[in-house]
Amino acid sequence: MLEPETSILKSFKGELMYGWNGCFLKVDLSRRKSTVEPFDASFATSFLGGRGFAAKILWDTLPTGTDALSPENKLIFATGPLTGFPLPNSGKLVVASKSPLTGGYGDGNIGTFAAVHLRKAGYDAAVVEGKAKKPVFLHMRDKTVEFVDAADYWGLDSFEAERRLRKIYGRAAGIVSIGQGAEKLVKFACVVSQEGRAGGRPGMGAVMGSKNLKAVVFEGSGTLPAAKPEELREEGLAGYREILVKPDYAFWKRQGTLSTVEWSNENSVLPTCNYREGIFAGAEKIGGYAAEKIKVSNRGCPNCNMTCGNVVKDAEGKQAELDYENVAMLGSNIGLGDLGQVAALNRIADEFSLDTISLGSALGFAIEASEKGLINEKISWGNFEEAKALATNIAYRHGLGDVLAEGVCRAAAKLGGNSADWAMHVKGLEISAYDCHTAPAMALAYGTSPIGAHHKDAWVIGWETENDREGYGEEKAAKVIELQNARGIFECLGVCRFPMVNLGFEREWYPKYLKAATAQQFTWETLNQISERVSNLVRAFWIREYNGMWSSELDVPPKRWFAEPLSQGPLKGGKLDRAKYDSLLQTYYAKRGWDERGVPKKEKLKQLGLSEVADQLSNKIQLV
Ligand code: SF4
Repeated sequence: MLEPETSILKSFKGELMYGWNGCFLKVDLSRRKSTVEPFDASFATSFLGGRGFAAKILWDTLPTGTDALSPENKLIFATGPLTGFPLPNSGKLVVASKSPLTGGYGDGNIGTFAAVHLRKAGYDAAVVEGKAKKPVFLHMRDKTVEFVDAADYWGLDSFEAERRLRKIYGRAAGIVSIGQGAEKLVKFACVVSQEGRAGGRPGMGAVMGSKNLKAVVFEGSGTLPAAKPEELREEGLAGYREILVKPDYAFWKRQGTLSTVEWSNENSVLPTCNYREGIFAGAEKIGGYAAEKIKVSNRGCPNCNMTCGNVVKDAEGKQAELDYENVAMLGSNIGLGDLGQVAALNRIADEFSLDTISLGSALGFAIEASEKGLINEKISWGNFEEAKALATNIAYRHGLGDVLAEGVCRAAAKLGGNSADWAMHVKGLEISAYDCHTAPAMALAYGTSPIGAHHKDAWVIGWETENDREGYGEEKAAKVIELQNARGIFECLGVCRFPMVNLGFEREWYPKYLKAATAQQFTWETLNQISERVSNLVRAFWIREYNGMWSSELDVPPKRWFAEPLSQGPLKGGKLDRAKYDSLLQTYYAKRGWDERGVPKKEKLKQLGLSEVADQLSNKIQLV
């Protein structure tokens, strides 16, 4: 058992550092050593936490061009200044690293007791680097870090690994683990916690696997550093009460995000048969009301009274946790209209620690390749057994599974033909569950998301369907930026965005919470500016890592949406217009303060307090 130096912590407990612990835990798996790295108030208030901390650590410490699956890559578990406090939905951490799938910045958030324990142990983030000689798990208990042999765990799925660890460390411990897919370095493997809460879809699980790290057990017993604990508790309680009386609360508890299946189908944006169509004949069989019929319970993240995980009994008689993205991608996108079977696929993906969105995209891609005779394997739409067998082959990298384990972008390069046109990704990350044939703003949101095509940072499609379905006007670019900045705040704070975006929980709660936690006066505007700083830093990271290969083409979604119109539904004939999309993209860049290549301008970086980033980036690419 190794004990990091703790004396250094004391000098970072000054008034300015309330809300943060003021240090990271750094673990070097190669040398089996852990150390404590302090940070100062300016770092905390400039980058807040979560994605902000992760992006800054990667920018500052990861050598350019590092192979994402090499020991040098860093796997970061980062909390925010609100994580763990008794506030609505405050159980989140961000898991981040350079992505093996995209070669750029990758992250995802997970609601897990690991987040709370990490904070209670006295850290704001854990940064893991190096590679263990043999499989290990880490046991972090307050200020001690133990490297434990994991030979008996290697090869287990993530649920079973966690169950066994719970027998040793108890029900209350915070545990993250990986399954066989991450061990086999599937490039879209993620990190899993609490049997169904997963995050880090651009391959953070593969990074964990590449380090021979099977799991991390977090146990913290300290008190979180609130400036005004009593005020925080009272404000937190008031927030919980307000959520309970929100008009949509009861329905949210019944269906969570699953009602989006019916909504997407009605609006012709439900990804169907590898995004050929936006409507699915079997939509109601996999929607929110169908889920209610097989629902067993609700599951959720720590400190949350909205518990949106719909636990259902799946086709194999086991329990699986569903949300919209996995139902759409493993349901309509592969032509499967049986929710019990969709749930089983979803559970299997979580057990293997394969990202459900990317898996659904890879399966849809493979079925289409089979249909078009690009591969010899016979796989058909809506066939559960075939999909399950292929998912297993992806996890173990057998046969065709080995090709798909690289993600659809690389699979298309290997299979050839015109498959690149219908390999549905942006920058290598498979697109989440909204078809964009008739949604230009959502296509832009995917094109410019900080991690590749992901919905989380700008769910503009709700606004777009209500306001202007057809247009490419500048208000669309402005709306995408507004949402990306607002949602980016949540990725830094360590709280879930759903109270605000789904129930209308007022945004002004968050500056209040921050005041009580940190003693600092943040406004929504200052938080927006921090979020903008972080997205520019993330953008700079991508450009640096693409090392001369950066181009605005990387912000363009796949050809299918421009070239193959919808053949069904009320928006039949609809498709994106490439010239208009390019013009919208340029408007977006201009509003961001980026040049026509999508590279932040020097002046913009300077305005955001990122002058050093500008200097370093100008060694890689000429800045305007
Ligand atoms: S609303 Fe859902 S995702 Fe958000 S904290 Fe609660 S359970 Fe987790």
